[in-house]
Amino acid sequence: MAKAEKLSASAIQTRLLIGGQWVDGAAGAEIDVFNPYDGSKIVAIAEAREADIDRAVEAARAAAPGWAKLAGHERARLLYKLADLIEADADHLTRLEAMNTGHPIRDCRNLDHPRTVLTFRYFAGMADKIEGAVIPVDAGFLNFTVREPIGVVGQIVPWNFPLMFVSWKLGPALAAGNTVVIKPSEITPLTTLRVGELIEKAGIPPGVVNIVPGYGNTAGQRIAEHPHIGKVSFTGSTNIGRSIVRASAGNLKKVQLELGGKGPNIIFEDANLPAAVGGSAFAIFHNQGQACIAGSRLLLHESIADAFLEKFIGLARSIKQGDPLDPETEMGPLTSKVHHERVLSYVSTVEKEGGKILSGGKVPGGELAKGFFVEPTIVSAGPEHRVSREEVFGPFVSATIFKDEAEAVAIANGTDYGLGAGLWTRDVQRAHRVAKNLHAGMVWINSYKRVHPASPFGGFGQSGYGREMGFEVMREYTQVKSVWLNVDAEIPPFYKR
Ligand code: NAD
Repeated sequence: MAKAEKLSASAIQTRLLIGGQWVDGAAGAEIDVFNPYDGSKIVAIAEAREADIDRAVEAARAAAPGWAKLAGHERARLLYKLADLIEADADHLTRLEAMNTGHPIRDCRNLDHPRTVLTFRYFAGMADKIEGAVIPVDAGFLNFTVREPIGVVGQIVPWNFPLMFVSWKLGPALAAGNTVVIKPSEITPLTTLRVGELIEKAGIPPGVVNIVPGYGNTAGQRIAEHPHIGKVSFTGSTNIGRSIVRASAGNLKKVQLELGGKGPNIIFEDANLPAAVGGSAFAIFHNQGQACIAGSRLLLHESIADAFLEKFIGLARSIKQGDPLDPETEMGPLTSKVHHERVLSYVSTVEKEGGKILSGGKVPGGELAKGFFVEPTIVSAGPEHRVSREEVFGPFVSATIFKDEAEAVAIANGTDYGLGAGLWTRDVQRAHRVAKNLHAGMVWINSYKRVHPASPFGGFGQSGYGREMGFEVMREYTQVKSVWLNVDAEIPPFYKR
């Protein structure tokens, strides 16, 4: 299959979307956006700063009553239309995502793009199914609940899956009747801006979605602290998550946090090894390991460790790195220069701490040396080593050996995070027992990194709180009102005169 063509700069939206207008930032500043394959500049986009966030919030506030008043099935119709437009825009969106993030176009076409469409459709279907309840209370009263939108929601998104995350964030927020100010990452804003064009085309009213790419310490901080934003949904690193919580205290806005992870991936002695090898490679090497739910800690039973590693290393060495626009490419570059340097710094950390590089650990040569590539890297390390505790967020997996189930679970639960975890076994009782004992918001058995818009997504511990997806996320984007109606109850006797 032929290589996909680069998009020309003139085909790329570069301005902010505020109140239905494409505008420059008030300060006139710009952000350069790069292609991580070769470090070249793709375009400069308008930079949103605090004053732009304030304008966007005003636009979202103005649009909020009208959007909330629409019948659920009317919001659904517009969201289905948006999903159709995104589906039809596959060629443009996948090329843009590959150019800006370094995701192989194969993955953009088979995963990111169809999942984005599916997620918008799933939440379109949710828009007219947000039900309250009738609660049995004291005799003579009818008590019922309604779930109302929050109003203006702020959303702050990281750089690793920008297209998919736009559906995770906008889908439920809009279905629930909120209006949105969304800040994509300054590093990968391009597909979010493209979705903004499709939002307009779908006929979603001006001001319902406002898109404001900017830096975290200016635009992001303003969203987190803004007095007229009722909820902030943040996906990103644990440290910035903490600063979002602090900034949110001013108006006590609701906060939902999807943070980092250090996913354990346990291979028991009775696992189907070929399946475990392939699944574990997907767990860590898909998207160059830049996934919060990456299976970045391999825990191997001592009896199968050598056999597993031999096959796993062989697979890792066969992964085809290359131009993300080439459909043959299986692994692209890391998404930014700064991140590339950070991931590579773990090679010396591993060696200093007494771990061993079993495979990879270098920047590939030739054509690829000009981009932000790292070879798929497998290291042996103890559970106490930094590489086994800190989120590397690259194609970098640590292998640790265990003797029995209790030790595997103890090592798996031995970090501050608790996002995703996986185990491979043919023993059904052990599968359930270990799943129950893992400290994680998501557990995959004989699989890894499965995600679906109907299934709750989120973590325990320092991986954050709140959930994306499914009915759970609809609770996050609504607030409950309890209404009491006196049908035929006596007035309480205390004040009877
Ligand atoms: P990051 O925390 O540096 O940035 C995330 C977003 O926050 C960006 O839009 C950034 O501009 C903004 N930001 C930065 N400083 C801010 C501040 N002071 N106030 C407000 N906003 C601010 O994370 P990243 O490097 O873009 O992404 C990688 C991280 O995201 C990893 O830790 C990864 O695990 C996490 N992540 C979590 C999930 C999840 O669902 N749990 C999913 C994907 C990524």
